[in-house]
Amino acid sequence: MPTPASPRSRTTQTHCPYCALQCGIALTAGDRPATLVPADFPTNRGGLCSKGWSATELLDHPERLTRPLVRSTPGDRTSAFVETSWEAAMDVVVAGIRRIQAAHGRDAVGCFGGGGLTNEQAYQFGKFARVALRTSQIDYNGRFCMSSAAGAANRAFGLDRGLPFPLADVGEADVLLLVGSNPADTMPPAMQYLDASREKGGRLFVVDPRRTATARAAELHLQALPGTDLALANGLLHIAVAEGLVDEQYVAARTTGWDAVRASVQAYWPDRVERLTGVPVAAMRRVVLALAGADKAIVLTARGAEQHRNGTDTAQAWINLSLALGLVGRPGSGWGTVTGQGNGQGGREHGQKADQLPGYRMLADPAARAHVAAVWGVDPADLPQPGRSAFELLDALGRDVHALLVLASNVAVSAPDARRVVSRLRDLQFLVVSDFFLSETAELADVVLPSAMWAEEDGTMTNLEGRVIRRRKTLDPPGEARDDLALMADLADRLGAGAHFSADPQTVFAELGRASAGGKADYAGITWDRVDAEQGVFWPCPTPEHPGTPRLFLDRFPTPDGRARFVAVEHVGAHEPPDAEHPYVLTTGRVMAQYQSGTQSRRSRSLAMVAPAPRAELHPDLAAQHGIAHDDVVELTTRRGKARFTATVTDAIRPDVVFAPFHWGGGSSANALTDAALDPISRMPAFKTCAVAVARVGGPVEQVPAPAPSSQPVPLVLRTAPRTPLTPTRRRTAAVKSTPRFLQGVYPITGDGLSKPGPVDPALTYTVPAGASAQALYFRGGNSTGELVYVLLVRDGEPVRWFPVGAKGDVHVPLRVVEDLPGGSVVTLHVAAPEGVTGELVVDLGLVEV
Ligand code: SF4
Repeated sequence: MPTPASPRSRTTQTHCPYCALQCGIALTAGDRPATLVPADFPTNRGGLCSKGWSATELLDHPERLTRPLVRSTPGDRTSAFVETSWEAAMDVVVAGIRRIQAAHGRDAVGCFGGGGLTNEQAYQFGKFARVALRTSQIDYNGRFCMSSAAGAANRAFGLDRGLPFPLADVGEADVLLLVGSNPADTMPPAMQYLDASREKGGRLFVVDPRRTATARAAELHLQALPGTDLALANGLLHIAVAEGLVDEQYVAARTTGWDAVRASVQAYWPDRVERLTGVPVAAMRRVVLALAGADKAIVLTARGAEQHRNGTDTAQAWINLSLALGLVGRPGSGWGTVTGQGNGQGGREHGQKADQLPGYRMLADPAARAHVAAVWGVDPADLPQPGRSAFELLDALGRDVHALLVLASNVAVSAPDARRVVSRLRDLQFLVVSDFFLSETAELADVVLPSAMWAEEDGTMTNLEGRVIRRRKTLDPPGEARDDLALMADLADRLGAGAHFSADPQTVFAELGRASAGGKADYAGITWDRVDAEQGVFWPCPTPEHPGTPRLFLDRFPTPDGRARFVAVEHVGAHEPPDAEHPYVLTTGRVMAQYQSGTQSRRSRSLAMVAPAPRAELHPDLAAQHGIAHDDVVELTTRRGKARFTATVTDAIRPDVVFAPFHWGGGSSANALTDAALDPISRMPAFKTCAVAVARVGGPVEQVPAPAPSSQPVPLVLRTAPRTPLTPTRRRTAAVKSTPRFLQGVYPITGDGLSKPGPVDPALTYTVPAGASAQALYFRGGNSTGELVYVLLVRDGEPVRWFPVGAKGDVHVPLRVVEDLPGGSVVTLHVAAPEGVTGELVVDLGLVEV
């Protein structure tokens, strides 16, 4: 039974701020710190990963920005930041914009957005650029995430929605093929759908250069070389043709362009593809036969396949295979892409991209310009033409673009060839950043504006399924932090365009609906009330009476002739093939306990306990060649720079590939190494493959030292003016001695019902000694039963935390270090399982006694 809430607190149903799964949570706030428990929302069904569990930690973080910052010497970005009022900061921003546009023209001011902005903020940012600034120079970091899959889907289907079916369909699939996707680490609650599929006999296949946690759960792991996924898809299609597995009836009725694709894949005979990819012919045959023979089969691609200089064609190759097997638009089957960022989907629908207007209308289309201009109350001729894509915009800084306004994006860490981008940011005459924390990008700014976090703002997000959901405000932002919607409305007003803008998210959403009406991503029939009542609404939803569209393409494709388009695509070699100087392939990606550029997750104490330092993965053979042992410090070198990591030596990675996580900046910036070669259609950089050299630097150290200064950007000396920080939730001193304590073991369980928990084992008890105190650090659990069970952390007879452990699943939950367990406290673990369910439970509760 939960501890009774204080009378001042209230509980709000909202969503995790991080990835596109947008897990439902119930957030209780009033008395800080806020607390959360998972909600039974359709995407997470009561599950959360460690990022979601720890999300409230950052709301009261002592490093939260609470007042605007400007430079003590205006124009000198080596001078200290000093706090100022919003009034004074906005005066500086407006003067900077006016000065630069007067000197260099409207396009000299650029805007850069983020995939974490709400739909309302993303929509308003696109409008702000085109109406208030009248600049063509706007793009966003989703260009680095989803754009290749979006480009391929638009080309093949006439529409881009990450999953064209609800996530629940994945749990019903007989065969699931994941290409370059690792949900076990990136969105763990989604694994319950894979588990559900396998429990009823479904088969899972994974293509990945690493034997990830997802790959380990698969029937077969195809360990392809990074950058060869297109060849693999064409090879599978070659086999399908040769074996007579193509669904000719479907192809004839619902597609165009098949003859050219059939001819092109003839060149991808299995032995050739095995040489290109490293995937054995027998494995390829097994996958094709499984996909073709299944009633319900789904192919999902993600960043591993898409973040290449031919990412659009690679996604197209997997679409070609799916079309040839008749999967797309068949209930329970299809192709989809797993969106990464929290609002990566909605963020790319409503005008944040350089070439788009709301509703996926194209900026270059006269009819689209006329429609949107009418909604905005401006002359279509005044709307700028399409601008530069994200990396091209960043690369133009200091040349054609002299000022940049950045919302919720840390490009100094997340952009490819990051040190070049840092250099371009330094070349700017004027940089304004709005963020929650002083990110690596904000550190370079003239003006830093403090923005509200997820629990402090209202709006909508669109999750990986295309389901529009509500982000609900539960508490006020700290200090003077503001919602970005209010920032844009205020700034537009000061620039003389205030009549066109609102700070009220519901008003903005209603306008977004009108602007998107008749477009591909039509939100016209969606209201906040409907979203509340229906657990989200799937777009397109053109009228209030329309039920929304959970499944797309069932009858026709939104192309002029209603048919999907095959497109013949060819494998191209790596932009940077390994050579004598850089003999290996570097691939980058995410780890479970960090998120994107790490602006938030690196500041989380709980997550830092799980993933405290950037670790590069190396195969034992590669490590042995260079005398590298596990935990040694290694230096990775590409043609762009160097970065240092702690080594993880593991046979889970190919011997010719090195993996580095991209969540860190400075001396461990993986993106300081990556290649900015761009896909010709999506303008996606080649994050996932470049040539790299490896060298041992030294033995294990607590802190990874920075590379030589010559390979680093010049560090700024930041002297923030004194201010009263938020009260930290804990005090720490390195002098305290601590002793680890554990409640661990494997126990048989018999369920009495989910509402009737009982002790896991009477002996499983820890009493904090008199005069000491303790804190819980983490919980890990495993469940051998075929049902979801709950483990409760009970203190002095009262449940204080509960942990769902999925059927035949496991969990690892870092615990917030916020509450002392004083001497005499008694800690036990209880379990609740459905009545009659039997099996074994593994528990491991880690505590520290001080
Ligand atoms: Fe948040 Fe994790 Fe759910 Fe993603 S999977 S929404 S990060 S809790």
